[in-house]
Amino acid sequence: MNIHEYQAKEILRNHGVPVPPGEIATTPDEAAEIARRYGGAVVIKAQVHAGGRGKAGGVKLAKDADDAREKATAILGLTIKGLPVEKVLVTPAEEIASEAYVGIIVDRGSKAAVFMVSAEGGVDIEEVAVTNPDAIRKLAVDPRYGLLPHQAYWLATELYDDVKQQRAAAAIMRQLYDSFVDAGASLAEINPLITTPSGEVKAIDAKMNIDDNELFRLPEIEALRDETSEEPSEVLAREAGLTFIKLDGEVGCCVNGAGLAMATMDLVNYYGGSPANFLDIGGSSNPQKVVDALRIITSDPNVKVILFNIFGGITRCDDVANGIVTATQQTQLSIPIVIRLTGTNEELAMQILEGAGFSAMTDMDAAVERAVNLAKGEGK
Ligand code: GDP
Ligand code: MN
Repeated sequence: MNIHEYQAKEILRNHGVPVPPGEIATTPDEAAEIARRYGGAVVIKAQVHAGGRGKAGGVKLAKDADDAREKATAILGLTIKGLPVEKVLVTPAEEIASEAYVGIIVDRGSKAAVFMVSAEGGVDIEEVAVTNPDAIRKLAVDPRYGLLPHQAYWLATELYDDVKQQRAAAAIMRQLYDSFVDAGASLAEINPLITTPSGEVKAIDAKMNIDDNELFRLPEIEALRDETSEEPSEVLAREAGLTFIKLDGEVGCCVNGAGLAMATMDLVNYYGGSPANFLDIGGSSNPQKVVDALRIITSDPNVKVILFNIFGGITRCDDVANGIVTATQQTQLSIPIVIRLTGTNEELAMQILEGAGFSAMTDMDAAVERAVNLAKGEGK
């Protein structure tokens, strides 16, 4: 789950990270009113689940309240990476002497949370990663001990020469790490971590992604969810209890089991197609899940063909077959469907499908190849 900058900043603030104040506006007048209260220059910042807002015109300096109204009008009219801007953060402008990058991600290779820091932070950090990777220093944190004081200090000395700034940054490293753990994050970033001309160290941008599997135990984090900023199909899928991720391809995949779903997507790519989604209908025997899955997949206009790939174990093939028949009775499909079923109650499933005018296959390669060809408008 993604959360907004202002929400991530609130988590950091609660852990002691120095973060400038800020308030949310949904209209230009609200932005002007907040700016008037702060007095002086403010920064207006689009709150969307996308990086690179600065480069997309979503972060603007405003010298006073009237300017804040004008800048907020412009930003609230933007669409950044396909996401319309509904809210802006209004925050007092900081004077910047330097911009550093501090991030933590879960790294499967290290089996740990890994810190990445760079003195060359700011909007070009992705470029630094490509052209000057040595400017990014990394440190894996042993989850048994957490971030130890000397490690936090080492990270800080990679960023600053001044001892006061090193101490301030070391504290921020620990606070960021605690924020990351407490929020169940898979990513937490401060970019930029600035120094001001008077030598203070502050976080003026923050990003956090939350691990969905942590949400059941963190209701206060789940409450930060902003459904208006999420992919509508992913919202529907979550409500239906399906594991679903929307992708950009044209083969709609309906599969049971995450491993088989991954294998299916690989095979779609292998045969020259590209998957429209990852979808795991799970291990249960519930025809309703199939009905929901079909509704969600077919709502994507990019989808040219639907591919069912079911390996019956606990999931019974006849239940899936009934789901397909029910779903297609409720809404007429306008695109072809390729069904591959094997395993528990396979024969019964074939009878049900044939009775409703569908044919099904048992070979996974053949089914995927056929689906890819249909998506390209070849074969049938
Ligand atoms: P991002 O582009 O989505 O990462 O948004 P940021 O909040 O990181 O802002 C992008 C850039 O705008 C920063 O790297 C800064 O250079 C600049 N910026 C953001 N806030 C301020 C501010 O308060 N004062 C000044 N002078 N520049 C700022
Ligand atoms: Mn940033």
